[in-house]
Amino acid sequence: MENLNHGPAYVGRYAPTPSGLMHLGHLSTFWKAQERARQFSGSIFLRIEDIDRERCNSEFEEKIIEDFAWLGLEWDSSAGGGPVRQSNRLGLYQLYLLKLIKKDAVYPCELSRKEIQKAVVATSPSTSEVIFPNSLRDLTNAAKHQRSPFSMNWRFRVPDGEQVGFTDRRSGEHRYIAGHDFGDFLVWRRSGWPSYELAVVVDDIEMSVSEVVRGEDLMISTSRQILLYDSLKKELPAFYHCPLVKDKNGVRLAKSFDSESLQAYRSRGWSRERLLCQIREWAELEYS
Ligand code: GLU
Repeated sequence: MENLNHGPAYVGRYAPTPSGLMHLGHLSTFWKAQERARQFSGSIFLRIEDIDRERCNSEFEEKIIEDFAWLGLEWDSSAGGGPVRQSNRLGLYQLYLLKLIKKDAVYPCELSRKEIQKAVVATSPSTSEVIFPNSLRDLTNAAKHQRSPFSMNWRFRVPDGEQVGFTDRRSGEHRYIAGHDFGDFLVWRRSGWPSYELAVVVDDIEMSVSEVVRGEDLMISTSRQILLYDSLKKELPAFYHCPLVKDKNGVRLAKSFDSESLQAYRSRGWSRERLLCQIREWAELEYS
């Protein structure tokens, strides 16, 4: 058995975003998350990642929970009854933004998308990330704005040239260079809500998540999040990135592709057993 060091217990989480229907890619990640929590006799929470108020809605959330029930994906509700909803945790995110401001780890950035695009000089060849230009750092004087910090954009200042590495529990060592593979990133939006990166780090810290199981499309996000943990002086969880499910043509499944949604499989008459069997078969190939 893998040597896990989770302190007192293994704590995992499912973190769906209710901005679309759940597809086989989500199912395969969540199935793996459940399997790992069971393997290590741990608990697992369901966290609805609904901070993007424009893209998320309660209808998708209901459908996701319905899919969970139909599939038999279970979560631990001992903490507060139901799933944890990011939209209910704004106060917590605000607290963490203030911590980052106090540490001078972030700076306000009131530039428009157009202004930023005009100044961009590099796209990372390894990650295809557009690198936020350093020439645009620290241009906004927060004091001058006389606005609440929560109604401004804030960016994390990455340590240029520094290596950010982690050992993924499935695929081993990964190394990224800050400022080369990714640049300064948003932690807060002027809409009054945190970015995905900050919200997820705050939640994983506050929920004492010991292992993060997510899709490998989020690998670069993991390295950004590691910088947030470092700057907040918090211990890192372990990471397990799952391979992405692709369609017949080798294209990654996307939420916008409704025909591959779980709901669509169900309406085509697929049973839970058949779907799980399909995922297991696929996973055996991909995870080996
Ligand atoms: N909410 C993200 C998604 O649905 C997953 C985030 C994470 O696992 O950190 O893709």
